[in-house]
Amino acid sequence: MDAYAVGFARPDRWSRGRPAGESRPWHAVEAHRPPNELDGEVELAVCGAIVQVWGSQQWERVGTGRTACPECRRISGPALAPPLSRAG
Ligand SMILES: [Zn+2]
Repeated sequence: MDAYAVGFARPDRWSRGRPAGESRPWHAVEAHRPPNELDGEVELAVCGAIVQVWGSQQWERVGTGRTACPECRRISGPALAPPLSRAG
């Protein structure tokens, strides 16, 4: 079973002068424990980013949104069930 917690890229980790990263702050974190137990922990996202786990969020929900990290979405792809298949 593949389970992912949701991680939030913290502002103090963002590079200065690169505001583009702020638009997609959500990352997937491999959950070795229930996400609510990981809440607040600093973990490594599947794409390699350092993030803080946001235990109240579900990757299955956040990961389909446009604020999710594209790399994490790609890696965790099978865990997500897109409501529609769209080009692009
Ligand atoms: Zn990511």
